[in-house]
Amino acid sequence: MRKKIEITCPHCLSTKVIKNGKSNGKQTYLCKSCYSRFFLDRIKKRYPLSTKKEVIRLYNEGYTLTELSRKFEIKVQTIHYWIKTLNRKK
Ligand SMILES: [Zn+2]
Repeated sequence: MRKKIEITCPHCLSTKVIKNGKSNGKQTYLCKSCYSRFFLDRIKKRYPLSTKKEVIRLYNEGYTLTELSRKFEIKVQTIHYWIKTLNRKK
């Protein structure tokens, strides 16, 4: 059975993603736009960059992770990860 997969690259948000074999029993994917490899379980849900930016903006204004999680219905860990990766200003 073959299912058509539509996966967005977490790095460049391209949908030109192909399966790239397995690593430690996990399916890995390769982005044909930026050539980065990633696991699917890191990108279960897709959020547009505008949502990420809005979440981070509100976080910088003093919202807590829990409040943002409830407001946007996004897991706390996901928000925490965004803040870590997108909030670098150095
Ligand atoms: Zn990519």
